[in-house]
Amino acid sequence: MPETRQRPIYLDCHATTPMDERVLAAMMPYFTEYFGNPASINHPYGWEAEAAVKQARESIANAIDATPEEIVWTSGATEANNLAIKGAAEAYFTKGRHIVTVATEHNAVLDPCRYLESLGFEVTILPVQSDGLLDLDDLEKALREDTILVSVMAANNEIGVLQSIESIGEICHDRGVLFHTDAAQAIGKIPLNVRSQNIDLMSLTAHKIYGPKGIGALYVRRRNPRVKLAPQQHGGGHERGLRSGTLCPPQIVGFAKAVELGISEMSEETQRLTQLRQRLWNKLSQLDGIYLNGHPERRLSGNLNISVEGVDGQALLLGLQPVVAVSSGSACTSAKIEPSHVLAALGRSETLAYASVRFGIGRFNTAEEIDLAAEQARSTIESLRRVTLLRPQA
Ligand SMILES: *Cc1c(COP(=O)(O)O)cnc(C)c1O
Repeated sequence: MPETRQRPIYLDCHATTPMDERVLAAMMPYFTEYFGNPASINHPYGWEAEAAVKQARESIANAIDATPEEIVWTSGATEANNLAIKGAAEAYFTKGRHIVTVATEHNAVLDPCRYLESLGFEVTILPVQSDGLLDLDDLEKALREDTILVSVMAANNEIGVLQSIESIGEICHDRGVLFHTDAAQAIGKIPLNVRSQNIDLMSLTAHKIYGPKGIGALYVRRRNPRVKLAPQQHGGGHERGLRSGTLCPPQIVGFAKAVELGISEMSEETQRLTQLRQRLWNKLSQLDGIYLNGHPERRLSGNLNISVEGVDGQALLLGLQPVVAVSSGSACTSAKIEPSHVLAALGRSETLAYASVRFGIGRFNTAEEIDLAAEQARSTIESLRRVTLLRPQA
């Protein structure tokens, strides 16, 4: 086991979340006792595993107002996005080759779109307003006769901004265009309903909501309209041929449990996280030159993303590191040091995009931890600014 002593406070819940003990408890029997392959139809080992998968499928379907047949298990939201976007492109390319998405999407949406561009599809990447919200007029204007798919995320992983999914879906449906939404950060945190929100394809994942890593799902609408997808992984014909590969019942059971908990505790937890976020912001905004990134209210309750004037981004993170585990920009791209494409899309300068911190507050964080994080941020920012003042001006 890795050393766990003296680890910083975890405030990076948009990258991943710790698993809830209740989720782990639900998963445990399916590793050793009920270990069967759900595709084994000849004995009780298979039947038990299949029963657990069926129940989880019903539970996830219920949570989003879908039917169980509309749920396809995947390894997570990256795979679900790939299946939705590439699968729809391949199934509908005789109808059209134009796809519309948004500059602030996760790379798991942007990269499949770029790949399709290399195959001859045309992709329109819409800008966002300075608050991170898509202008719906821009969307209306971007739709063409040959547009087959629009992909707009429900909740942003960097700035937490919540797009107007229902209105976007309505615009798409009026024009006969399929609507996909990446809801990796949204499921279990904000209400989602594929019928009332006009969603045709929706990507989900478990590990952002206190479930296990490596499991997610794609919702694929079966009626009004029935969405066709070309499978991206071929094999045993699992998941009605859409995604072959042996299912992992413990992960699936854990995913369903995580969603159930998220939904049953949503309203209280949203209130609690909003208070913690406000507590953090109240302390940080007492300093000069702190800018909030993203719309102040239309955002995930646990998200605070700030840019700090007059400090170096790397030095800021280094200063925070001993006390708080946070990200600057998106965790998925932080291996390369590039300013976040999301903050750039809001019109933030390169310097302010570098000097940004994403706080992701979650289920197990306390007010005491928020105070410690705020204090560390304050002292780091103040001492970095003092150093900058001492430096001789060139
Ligand atoms: C985390 C995340 C993903 C990737 O999900 P995985 O399950 O880790 O593949 C995709 N989109 C968004 C918005 C995310 O936050």
